[in-house]
Amino acid sequence: MIPHSRPSLDKKEVEAVAQVIESAHIAQGSMVKKFEQVLGRYIGCPYAAAVSSGTAALHLSLLALDIGSSDEVIIPSYVCTALLNAIHYVGANPVVVDIDERTFNIHPESVASKISTRTRAIVVPHMFGCPADLEALSQFNLPIIEDCAQAIGAQYRERPVGSWGTLAIFSFYATKMITTGEGGMVLSHSKELINRIKCLREYDNKNNFGLRFNYKMTDMQAAMGQVQLQKLPEFIQKRQLLALKYYQAFKDFNVKLPAELQNGNHIFYRYVVRIQADLDNIINLCESKQFQCRRPVFKPLHHYLKQKDCPVTDLVYREALSIPIYPSLTQDQQDYIIENLGEILRQL
Ligand SMILES: *Cc1c(COP(=O)(O)O)cnc(C)c1O
Repeated sequence: MIPHSRPSLDKKEVEAVAQVIESAHIAQGSMVKKFEQVLGRYIGCPYAAAVSSGTAALHLSLLALDIGSSDEVIIPSYVCTALLNAIHYVGANPVVVDIDERTFNIHPESVASKISTRTRAIVVPHMFGCPADLEALSQFNLPIIEDCAQAIGAQYRERPVGSWGTLAIFSFYATKMITTGEGGMVLSHSKELINRIKCLREYDNKNNFGLRFNYKMTDMQAAMGQVQLQKLPEFIQKRQLLALKYYQAFKDFNVKLPAELQNGNHIFYRYVVRIQADLDNIINLCESKQFQCRRPVFKPLHHYLKQKDCPVTDLVYREALSIPIYPSLTQDQQDYIIENLGEILRQL
């Protein structure tokens, strides 16, 4: 079976983690600090705080911005429930908006229609590795939390995503662009915000009691993260080559392929095609041919919330299929997917 996603790991990660274990300093320490520094430098943000997951990064970002009950946070519907959870953790109200059909990203006009006097922030995921329209979104003069969980290494107008927002969060879950098993990071140009997050991520050695968390990353994870980050340029190159090959293979089929973009460069965390047919049937047919395709978002947020006003998200949810793309996908595996998915599409 060719899996839908798969981390790309080798002896380098094994050696880096083994060294940390041998040192016996395994919890948050010098390796975490180093990982924060190198990631901050790579993205172009001077301040960084490593945490235990992307969700924790979102949670602490909202707290650092003093967002709480009766505040509203705008998010797109077409994204995972991590965002919804983080907003509920702080007691705020999620305001779910529609997306841009071309990029699958949060739509600035849809944001504009939902801004109120209670809006305190916009969370902007760069979906599937494609930068969102940060310029249009910045005109609202609201804090932007860039969600780079799927887009580390992508550029918007020749500057890395994650360097634009008030805060930017990253995830290093096993299926993401780079991984530490579980893990996350918050970056910012604000020293004050990052200091708040560093204070909140650990409970020990504080003079005053306040609500704090245990959201620390371990040095074992940070060692692995540094090796993965070194490989990121190579990972992106490989993904873009695979994407090009998919484009050439499917361009004459009756499917919509990912948009080529003017202002950003797509790093193809996911290769998402749109097909006007019964997706569940296609997913089952792929599975029976020993390769896994998936809906790239399990269920849109406005469906969980039983809301009705995200027509573009509804349309995309019906049609969008994610096909395997990752650096360790071999040429033979991709050829196999192209041949068999092509056959399935021809028979529709
Ligand atoms: C994965 C992901 C998250 C959550 O990250 P975890 O590390 O799994 O908590 C948040 N936002 C987006 C867009 C993601 O893809």
